[in-house]
Amino acid sequence: MFAQEFVLKQRTEILHALCSSGSAEHLERVLDILLAQGELTWEDYQNIQVPGRPLFTNARQLLDLLYTKGLDSCGLFLAALKQVLPEAQETGLSLSGCSPNIKEKEAQSTSTTQMLLTQRPSLVSKLQSCINGALQALVVEGQFTSRDCDEVRRPIHTPSQQARCLLDHVSSKGDLAAKVLLNYIQQKQESGSPVNQKNLTPPKEFLKYQKKLSSSVSAQSCFLSTYGGTSHMSLDDIYTEGQLELAHKCTDLHTPLGLEDIVGTLGTVNKEADTVLVSGEAGSGKSTLLQRLHLLWAQGAALQDFLLLFPFSCRKLNSEHKELSVQELLFQHCCWPDREQEQIFQFILDHPHLILFTFDGLDELKQSFSDEHRLCCPTQHAPVHTLLFNLIQGSLMKGVQKVVTSRPEAVGPLLKKHLSKEVLLKGFSPSGIDCFVRKHHNDSTVAAKVLESLQTNTALLGLCHNPVLCWIVSQCHKELLGCGEGSPQTITDVYLMILQHFLQHKSLSKSTIGLGWLHENLKTVLHLGQLAFEGIGSTCYIFSGIELDACGVTEQDICIGFLIQIKDTSSAHYEFLHVTIQCFFAALYIVLSGNIDGPTIPKLFEMQDMRETGLSTSCFGACLPSTDQQKQDVVGEDTAAKTSDLQMIATFVSGLLSQRHRSLWLHCCPSAVMEKKARQVVRCLSKGMQKHFKSIPQPVEGEAKSMHAMPGFLWLIKCIYEMQESRIANNAMSKLEIDHLKLTYCNIGPVECTALSYVLQHLRTPVGLQLDNNSVGDVGVEQLLPCMHVCNSLHLRNNNITDEGIRKLIAKGIQCDNFRKIALFNNKLTDACTQQFSHLLKTRQDFLSLRLGNNNITAEGAKQLAEGLKFNHSLQYLGLWGNKIGDAGAEALASALEYSKSLVWLSLVGNGVGTAGACALAKIVKNSTSLEHLWLTENCITRAGVECLIQALQHNTHVKSIWLQNNNLSLEEV
Ligand code: ADP
Repeated sequence: MFAQEFVLKQRTEILHALCSSGSAEHLERVLDILLAQGELTWEDYQNIQVPGRPLFTNARQLLDLLYTKGLDSCGLFLAALKQVLPEAQETGLSLSGCSPNIKEKEAQSTSTTQMLLTQRPSLVSKLQSCINGALQALVVEGQFTSRDCDEVRRPIHTPSQQARCLLDHVSSKGDLAAKVLLNYIQQKQESGSPVNQKNLTPPKEFLKYQKKLSSSVSAQSCFLSTYGGTSHMSLDDIYTEGQLELAHKCTDLHTPLGLEDIVGTLGTVNKEADTVLVSGEAGSGKSTLLQRLHLLWAQGAALQDFLLLFPFSCRKLNSEHKELSVQELLFQHCCWPDREQEQIFQFILDHPHLILFTFDGLDELKQSFSDEHRLCCPTQHAPVHTLLFNLIQGSLMKGVQKVVTSRPEAVGPLLKKHLSKEVLLKGFSPSGIDCFVRKHHNDSTVAAKVLESLQTNTALLGLCHNPVLCWIVSQCHKELLGCGEGSPQTITDVYLMILQHFLQHKSLSKSTIGLGWLHENLKTVLHLGQLAFEGIGSTCYIFSGIELDACGVTEQDICIGFLIQIKDTSSAHYEFLHVTIQCFFAALYIVLSGNIDGPTIPKLFEMQDMRETGLSTSCFGACLPSTDQQKQDVVGEDTAAKTSDLQMIATFVSGLLSQRHRSLWLHCCPSAVMEKKARQVVRCLSKGMQKHFKSIPQPVEGEAKSMHAMPGFLWLIKCIYEMQESRIANNAMSKLEIDHLKLTYCNIGPVECTALSYVLQHLRTPVGLQLDNNSVGDVGVEQLLPCMHVCNSLHLRNNNITDEGIRKLIAKGIQCDNFRKIALFNNKLTDACTQQFSHLLKTRQDFLSLRLGNNNITAEGAKQLAEGLKFNHSLQYLGLWGNKIGDAGAEALASALEYSKSLVWLSLVGNGVGTAGACALAKIVKNSTSLEHLWLTENCITRAGVECLIQALQHNTHVKSIWLQNNNLSLEEV
């Protein structure tokens, strides 16, 4: 069919293909090509593209015109259509065979403006991503006025329409403007990035603004707020590195993650996204880490690729009720430019990759993350949370780097979709605790004493991995050193210590000693407690003077030091020193206040279920004494922060109501009421546990009965630990009948290990405890020792454990009759711990399985193990995958295991074992009466080695498999 006839006959299909999407883009791209090819004149174009006329009418106009122009024009049109809509054929429009291909028109053009026309399709596509830069270049060269810019940047236009509009404008200005534009595009292509930063010369006002922002960021970040109430502590003096880990394993990572790696490309899993999440428990140091980044940037010591850094606190953004544009958000909430706001903002828009935003505490935002309301225009006004969510997704200001912090509970799959990577902040390492305590105390003998007392109380040492607890412990060193036997064990103990510390140091009645200190300050505690309690109910962490008054908080109460004034707000606003302290006060209120009614405690403990079943958690709001409608409305909004706040409150309530703290409440509260509340807690814990146990599926016949802990299980365990009453732990555990308890990927650190160990000790029958992929570490291992006697197997894969931890673990394990299997794949073990294992193997003739894969064990370590193996007659599984034992190690093991009657499975995969090693191992194959599987994959065994193994096999009837993939064998030999 001729092209002209085709255009006529297929008119309906062509119109449908061009216009049915409702977008003018297809038609406009076809027009671009026809203009570039000279098929349409400028006048034709304007006759077709009539602004405001329906899309179909424009398209019909084009078809009519082409038909009258004749065969060639129609042919070219069909070629253009094929290029723009390759998928149109699938919708019934057959374009094959009837259209020539389009080549870019030879540049016979005489003028630069004409080049804009002949290259129009490619220019439109190149310009879309850098309209603002191009406009700026034109303005700087005096070719464009700001009115021209506004014309181009009309918000209703799509980026490609803006690009076309820009081209048309430039054409109308003449050759000089066209040259500026083409030069700009060429430069941009050569630099390979939107702007070459080295050649960048930001406008003068921008540089002034940069200075102002930087000094404001510096002023905001140089002191730590927890010290605000007591003494000033500069961040430079106290900052201690926390432990950072990537949430997704990264093979390029060879050294610990540093602060600047947070923003860098290392570990990126989604290249399309520009948001990094730093997640960690309350008090793990997220805000402090951001503060450190801010300060380093302001001091010019880090992140210097970013010209501007805008720090936001989600807590503060909660109180912004107006709708804002991004520009207002940046300038009003971070730093106001003295002049040329538009120009500065324009520069920001044009250079997104030079800008960094940080959002601290996304979990504290009243609204949970959603990507429902899309916004892409930076001048559009919207509620602050909508702006924030769009910035995080990148639909607004794509290319700007963002770092967001949050507690892990608040991070749902919706948010994860938009993250370039997730970094986990795991608090202080053991050496970090040491370093922090030394920095905190000028007097080195005091520091040494505090550290010494921590070493004698491993439960407390475990807690100190959380920086906020480490801070409290350091702050209360006098109480700590003076308390001897009764030194703190639980989180509640630590917070009671700081309560006592602040009350006794700041209250007017300094004389109070003994247990009366609480009674003396009961009013203060209740005022602050009510404020905290109501705040949590409405996701409110910042309080105005009016709110303080409403709860009776006086000037004197403030002076105690738990509330700190926020500096950069116009009227006086306060927040608690830390969110955990707010939760502690809320718990004190629940325990001590007469206004708390019966259902409050049960409701508090039911929160977890509510969340898991997707019900609203507004019930806590219903317990609030206030009936203020507005407050109730906010309460209705369920945020993940609230769940984790409520869990923390419940943990404190359990601790505060435990038997050992009852004497504190004497004279503060009728003991019958106390007893009743305590009974409620015990009932809730028992009920919660029952629920978990009921969810355990019946085992398949022949398999162990296994429980994989649901979220909330660990929290209940922690609550039971806070109570420190064996009777309760015993009760809870007596009903758990399982063979295997799986707690993998549960964020278990030393603190959780302490609680877990305390509760598991009460199990009636031994279990296999699987704690793979957590952050147990050496301190956590130490916490687990008390429950070793109920563990028949312990799985601690990927837990940051070193030889130090293993030494203690094995020393204890040897004494525990039930302990028979251990898996330590992917930790930090070296030859220094193999002697322990050797001793274990020698001593315990009932030990079954030892798996030490992916550690750093060499031939020396293997020799040590062999010493133990010589005397052992029970081991069935030995796994050394991914170590470096080499031939010498293999030979040592082979000679120890040659006549083994117990070993069933041996893995030496990836150990650099060569032919000599294989020939030695052949002896086990030949002589052992038990070996069934030998794994030798990924070594460097040659044909000679394999021949040894084959010969050995001829004598053996037990071996079922020997694996030899990826060795030094030719295809033929294989
Ligand atoms: P999060 O934001 O995770 O709740 P914060 O950053 O507010 O935790 O930390 C709580 C307190 O712990 C801080 O106010 C400070 O006293 C202490 N802290 C946290 N991280 C560090 C650190 N890296 N160096 C020194 N102190 C820290």
